[in-house]
Amino acid sequence: MTSNDTSRPTDPDCLFCKIVAGEIPATVVAATDQAVAFKDINPQAPLHVLVVPRAHHGDIAQLAAADPELLSGVVALADAVASEQADGQFRLIFNSGPRAGQSVFHVHGHVIGGKELGWTPA
Ligand code: C5P
Repeated sequence: MTSNDTSRPTDPDCLFCKIVAGEIPATVVAATDQAVAFKDINPQAPLHVLVVPRAHHGDIAQLAAADPELLSGVVALADAVASEQADGQFRLIFNSGPRAGQSVFHVHGHVIGGKELGWTPA
């Protein structure tokens, strides 16, 4: 783990840190000084956007413990994206750990919506 020029924790080997830095292309749909929202490359619904904090944290529990205000900013960006790109209703999924389906270890919320959603995901 290193820090960038704004003393934000970053990981030079992290895919989503590279997307946040603009080093890897992504379709960014919204951004704040805290977080970035971009389209998932393998969408599972008409609205499927990932919201990630600019700072590197491994999963949602680590983010909540380290910086609850930043987690709040991530949730607020998810809400804004769902309002701008769909009807404002959304499911926000944070896979946490490989057995829960997490494959990228920079916390990200899947903002899912744009259709009637079924239940359950398991
Ligand atoms: O929750 P999980 O870690 O499995 O989610 C990772 C998500 O990142 C996947 O939905 C995948 O499609 C997406 N992804 C992406 N752009 C990349 C690599 C992965 O949108 N360059």
